[in-house]
Amino acid sequence: MSEIRQDPTTGDWILVAPRRVSRPWQPSDFCPFDPGAPETGYGWDALILPNRYPVVAPDAPEVEPDPFYARLRAYGRALVVVETPEHGLDDISDLPEAQIRRVLGLVAEEMAKAASDPAIAYFLFFRNKGREIGVSLTHPHSQIYELPVVPARVARELERSKSYYEERGRCLHCDIISAESKSKRVVASWPRWIAFVPFYARWPHEVHLYPTRHVQLFTELGEEELDELAAALKLVLCGLNKALGKPMPYMMVLHQAPLRGGPYPHYHLHFEIYGMYRPDGKLKYAASAETGANIYTLDTTPEDAAERIRAGVEICSASRLGHA
Ligand code: UDP
Ligand code: ZN
Ligand code: FE
Repeated sequence: MSEIRQDPTTGDWILVAPRRVSRPWQPSDFCPFDPGAPETGYGWDALILPNRYPVVAPDAPEVEPDPFYARLRAYGRALVVVETPEHGLDDISDLPEAQIRRVLGLVAEEMAKAASDPAIAYFLFFRNKGREIGVSLTHPHSQIYELPVVPARVARELERSKSYYEERGRCLHCDIISAESKSKRVVASWPRWIAFVPFYARWPHEVHLYPTRHVQLFTELGEEELDELAAALKLVLCGLNKALGKPMPYMMVLHQAPLRGGPYPHYHLHFEIYGMYRPDGKLKYAASAETGANIYTLDTTPEDAAERIRAGVEICSASRLGHA
């Protein structure tokens, strides 16, 4: 049994997939993503594999429509992006830039395939990092959900961006970039990308990474933008890992336009990275106010968080130049 249900009170989608409970939980004696494992083989530097415990699948069973609720067939694809054959690395930022670039190229290829399937409405690319936040396998990997629905959080961003665009004739996100670039919250910038802790950060060490060009889809990024993105991700994530003197557990999500129902000229793609340690190194939980009311409490200021991450970034760029 698997299906997609919608909460009619919020618009949230729930991927009901009870078979996922049997997935391996932090095994210490084997790793399905190592070279030579049954699904990987040898002679690769990065791989996209079907998730063995998928939340959506091309062969998902048909479902009876519910007379009251929105209930959908769990059609789609859940994929694992194995970013390196090296099991023991802590983070994608430990990989050479060229390898991160290769991973981004694979993701873009996969997205182009997904876009040709009319039943896929959204390409969700994300990465969980750190046992502390419950990753089930520590081998460096990210994930892709190709979904028949648009995630509600993105739908809400689309709506707000659209009304801003209609009222002022400008992109909300371009205006955010311009406000943030003049602030104390910039973490690092490149000609084509900018990383900052947003004014409105919800998590203690949150970084948003935007292309400076107004672009809606990951597949619309050019070669140079992808090259620079590889460099930016490496530096920002390395900085996050160095900000508190111990590796930072984080979640990273790509927010981009849906594949259907467009165009979305008012939207602007970006990565959101949520570093989950508070400044004292304790894990921040999403508790009642956060989960139940979407009210986030922040035990630091975004300005202080940016300063800590910038200090981390300094350490990373110094060690790259061989000075540390
Ligand atoms: N997985 C897989 N093949 C296996 C074992 C696990 O594809 O042989 C998947 C598993 O279903 C999980 C993913 O690998 O979705 C590891 O993801 P992660 O730990 O980041 O987060 P999770 O998806 O478990 O929340
Ligand atoms: Zn824009
Ligand atoms: Fe966003």
